[in-house]
Amino acid sequence: MTETFIDLRGIRKSFGRVEVLKGVDYTVRQGSVSCLIGPSGSGKSTLLRCINSLEQPEEGEIWVDGALIGKRTEKDDYRALDEREIAGQRASIGMVFQQFNLFPHMTALENVMVGPQWVKGEDRTRAKRRALELLERVSLGERAHHYPAELSGGQQQRVAIARALSMQPKAMLFDEPTSALDPELVGEVLTVMKDLANGGMTMIVVTHEMSFAREVADHVAFMDAGVIVEEGHPRTVLSSPRSERARDFLSRV
Ligand code: ADP
Ligand code: MG
Repeated sequence: MTETFIDLRGIRKSFGRVEVLKGVDYTVRQGSVSCLIGPSGSGKSTLLRCINSLEQPEEGEIWVDGALIGKRTEKDDYRALDEREIAGQRASIGMVFQQFNLFPHMTALENVMVGPQWVKGEDRTRAKRRALELLERVSLGERAHHYPAELSGGQQQRVAIARALSMQPKAMLFDEPTSALDPELVGEVLTVMKDLANGGMTMIVVTHEMSFAREVADHVAFMDAGVIVEEGHPRTVLSSPRSERARDFLSRV
């Protein structure tokens, strides 16, 4: 068994009066690929956003690489992280969104250089060399000087992956990375993700691509209405789900 890398215990998160995460326990092992599946509105994005400190849960603990994210006060409520802590936390976990969110006024190369330069204070020459390597790695070396508007959706998403990797994250979170793409562009993004997985990156992938989950994931968790309803090996969860809710969901995707 490899080590636990991300560990969530009893996570609760509400927006106003609506409780969106209702006590989630979730463990991700180092170097594993975990797929998170489930219907729209079940809390998948919120869970990823908690792991990346884009949201703070009201209750529960989030451990990443042995460190507790957000510390408890004597009163035992979640202490909000200060900005410096959040920046450090975010830098250690890369995130890729459905909408690629590239800076439109920057070339692909500049998009991949900007984080190391401005957040990590890396010098320009080094940031550029590493950015070019990363663009090569996502097969976009010859598109380095193109602006996002000049790239296809699949190419933009690959730049977004390279940009996340530029911060040398210890884990990568993907939130429906192929959902905004035309079907013929999905494959090139999944290929990049498979390469990353084969390279040993710890990944959590929210996806509706069941073939990716079957082929690449080590673990699948099915989420519904703010809880993880069932989880385990992809073969088990996807082929013979125990719960009615998972069976129903899987029959529809
Ligand atoms: P999923 O990613 O599984 O579709 P989400 O985590 O995006 O689910 O959303 C879960 C629920 O939380 C939904 O009902 C959504 O409307 C609500 N929600 C998410 N983000 C916010 C927010 N910032 N403010 C209010 N409600 C939100
Ligand atoms: Mg979502």
